[in-house]
Amino acid sequence: MSGRLTNAAGNEGAGGAVGNRTGGHAFACPLCGLARRPGLFEAARGGPYRVCAACGSASGPGTLDYARHYADYFPDLVAEDSPLLAERYHAILQRAERLTAGIRGTRTPSLLEVGCGNGQLLAVARERGWRVAGVELSAAQADHCRARGLEVVCGDLLGDDLFEDRRFDAAVMLEVFEHLPNPRPTLRALASRLQPGGVVYLTTPNFSALARRLLGARWSVLHEEHVTLATAEGLRRSLRDCRLATIEIGSRNVNLAELAHGFGRRAPMAGSQRAAAAADARDRIEASAALRVLKAILNVLLRASNLGETLVAWGRNG
Ligand SMILES: [Zn+2]
Repeated sequence: MSGRLTNAAGNEGAGGAVGNRTGGHAFACPLCGLARRPGLFEAARGGPYRVCAACGSASGPGTLDYARHYADYFPDLVAEDSPLLAERYHAILQRAERLTAGIRGTRTPSLLEVGCGNGQLLAVARERGWRVAGVELSAAQADHCRARGLEVVCGDLLGDDLFEDRRFDAAVMLEVFEHLPNPRPTLRALASRLQPGGVVYLTTPNFSALARRLLGARWSVLHEEHVTLATAEGLRRSLRDCRLATIEIGSRNVNLAELAHGFGRRAPMAGSQRAAAAADARDRIEASAALRVLKAILNVLLRASNLGETLVAWGRNG
């Protein structure tokens, strides 16, 4: 059966059925760094994932040519700015402003975003008075950012040693972590570009999510681009290893449309289908006061239980 999670001893792991496959020899977990015999998690796409026996994070086989794949990412499609995202970005930046007030004094705050996509977050930050810079692997997206007057370099923070002598008050990495086969060196490079006391904010899918536990191999987040799927514990250990003190790690979001789709035992949702279903659900929730209350309650529960689909983390340098 696919989607089952077994550990080296063949015992049941989080959310999986008992089975007898193991992940073979010990491997060093890219998140917590510990070397143990991993469990194995089969997936409809992107697997099999090796599951760390220490922190529970999952690593895919990594069959993509990383640099080439992302250089051509969205070659002719640069996303439009979204009002909903603008609202979320304002909230992130407001918190970053509070968290860095003590180290900035009257200095203009500075922000680095890794994987800045169409540049919307950087543009929102600039509106709020931040000095901003971004890194983006996709040439089309980087060009788009520069056309809107943003300082964005097309490259890889790690490989190209960008912004080496600059120090930022805050750094943001949204939904990038899961694309990195070995995220800790990138996180370390990011930390080294922060001011002492500077903060980092990142989001990434949660391998411990309720949806992954319920949908197993058919969870739409599992695919070949997502080579590193963290748990809260894996993320906590990664931050610590990169000399980032955890301010907060939590989880949020549940994609009810996907759960309903999955319970019909249908094939996993494609990324575009998943996004459309999530947008549809968002519209319905926004239109109903009762659903908004339900969503707020659900988010509190998800945050407390770490079962939400997205992990969110704030860390502080030094
Ligand atoms: Zn681990």
